[in-house]
Amino acid sequence: MDIKKIMIIGAGQMGAGIAQVFAQAGYEIILNDIKEEFVEKGISGIEKGMKRRIEKGKMEESVMNKTLSLISPSTNYSDAQNADLVIEAATENESIKLDIFKQLDEFAPEHTILATNTSSLSITKIAAATNRPDKVAGFHFFNPVPVMNLIEVNLALQTSNETKEALEELGKSIDKTVIIANDTPGFVVNRLLIPMINEAIFILESGTVTAESIDKAMELGANHPMGPLSLADLIGLDTVLAIMETLYKGFKDQKYRPSLLLTKYVEAGKLGRKTGEGFFKYD
Ligand code: NAD
Repeated sequence: MDIKKIMIIGAGQMGAGIAQVFAQAGYEIILNDIKEEFVEKGISGIEKGMKRRIEKGKMEESVMNKTLSLISPSTNYSDAQNADLVIEAATENESIKLDIFKQLDEFAPEHTILATNTSSLSITKIAAATNRPDKVAGFHFFNPVPVMNLIEVNLALQTSNETKEALEELGKSIDKTVIIANDTPGFVVNRLLIPMINEAIFILESGTVTAESIDKAMELGANHPMGPLSLADLIGLDTVLAIMETLYKGFKDQKYRPSLLLTKYVEAGKLGRKTGEGFFKYD
């Protein structure tokens, strides 16, 4: 399948990162969000990140200019009529995603693949909300997208072999490593990673050790490049909570219950780096 034009739904940290890597590889991008200012924020974030690399001598200015010129802003799902692939990276909320997929299905041409970057929601259920379930799959990137090398292609029960192969090839075309996994809550990485982060928050909640010490313990004791609480702040605490709730609901197993402290942080709007404060503070 020839994929040239890609629409990305959601211009937050993941959507903007996905837009950047594909534009940098020469794909035409339509970057969509609910408000113009959110799309602009996404694009200026891409520009800021690329400028930092130029200042460090790691990128030519012409690469940034070319990349930015390939990204067009959108606040209308009807722009999917021009896309060969849509990658949805909106907020991790099932009803939002089901509504987006229903609408995209109306506007996108028949050949268009509708992929989701969901961290944990049922792709099989999302596929069933469309009239093209065979052309729906998970296309799961990691944060920060330009740096992290992995993509999980997650297959709904209905995903066709053709769709799987198209996404696998596309992932390789931007120099990422692709693994294929069936649709189960959390897929592979998050089923392992997020319960570990949740357990770190349980330890913090017990008051036996500081947040700094928990992170140091895993950095030095397990050789993790970043401690679990800093990683939670990077992912976004709302996203971490949403994934734990999906695991809990999906497996119906007590071992996946979200920590109360995590819920409190989300209720307080302390979502991590994106709001300037989570378990740690950011400028
Ligand atoms: P984010 O909060 O940074 O961005 C989400 C964006 O989606 C926001 O700009 C919001 O305005 C937009 N949005 C919400 N509803 C929308 C709609 N109906 N139409 C268009 N845009 C809409 O969140 P994020 O961290 O970028 O996460 C996005 C998705 O990527 C989630 O499904 C998340 O689970 C997944 N994901 C996140 C990470 C991570 O580390 N943060 C990693 C892999 C996958």
